[in-house]
Amino acid sequence: KKTISVAALKSLVNEAYEQVKSAKGGANADYIPYLANVPSDLFGIAVSLPGGEIIEAGDTRYVFGIESISKVHTAVLVLRQSGPEKLLEKIGADATGLPFNSIMAILLEKDHPSTPLVNSGAIAACSMVGPTADADAKWKAIEENMADLCGSPLVLLEELYRSETATNFNNKSIAWLLKNYNRIYDDPDMALDLYTRQCSMGVTARQLAVAGCTIANYGLNPSTGKQVFDRALAPKIVALIAAVGFYEHTGDWMYTSGIPAKTGVGGGVMGVLPGGFGIAAFAPPLDDAGNSVKAQQAVRYIARHLGVNVYSGD
Ligand code: GLU
Repeated sequence: KKTISVAALKSLVNEAYEQVKSAKGGANADYIPYLANVPSDLFGIAVSLPGGEIIEAGDTRYVFGIESISKVHTAVLVLRQSGPEKLLEKIGADATGLPFNSIMAILLEKDHPSTPLVNSGAIAACSMVGPTADADAKWKAIEENMADLCGSPLVLLEELYRSETATNFNNKSIAWLLKNYNRIYDDPDMALDLYTRQCSMGVTARQLAVAGCTIANYGLNPSTGKQVFDRALAPKIVALIAAVGFYEHTGDWMYTSGIPAKTGVGGGVMGVLPGGFGIAAFAPPLDDAGNSVKAQQAVRYIARHLGVNVYSGD
């Protein structure tokens, strides 16, 4: 494994920021009205190291919608509460090769939600969170787990939550299709609401880098010193991310970056180099597949120039 010097990383993060800052292309997500109105030129990069250092450039303290990156957090919570076997049995750990919101993700896997990192499995994951049948207590568990991973509490973006609740027709169908196949483990409307709320949490690139590093650091949060989850769970979470973090473009992403990472339509990307660091980048304009154009370029740039890659073992 490479030793990464803080000084070298600092200049590399600045260099990546300068290189990628004026990249063109992409557009804000527009299927959720709130996201369409976030300023498009925001851009930030943050890297969190196991020693506690955070290296950052640009808009790393801007609070944006975490969206699908929250699926990783709640998958961690389900692993903490129920363990890896239950997660595999009740949801799955497969790549789907399908867009995030695909109803097919349920049907293709023979009535199985496939993975907690696509919408169907993420809604099922919210249904699994304990204590079941208690929306407030479940929400508290989800919120606390997010804060544990990010090193500080997240805030609900009320307007995003309202915007998303008013337009989540597709996710409603997914929740009820899961019910039809006995693949939802609590009230479907409640699970869907919890999912919508977790997607509407506001987060910063800094917080996401810390969450990524908590996973890279085998459950030990580098900012708070808290052991958030059992270290044996770390490779399970990384396996989920590496399999489907970029939905139907995960293969291309892993091939070109070598860094397991999860995207969200809010413009964030959270990457994990096991034993190395957590990295996050944020910029609202998305490519056709719904992944942030600049965030992808920034993470690739840094990985390539550091010469790190999970598949090479460097
Ligand atoms: N809240 C979004 C949805 O379920 C999340 C999508 C994403 O970030 O990929 O539609």
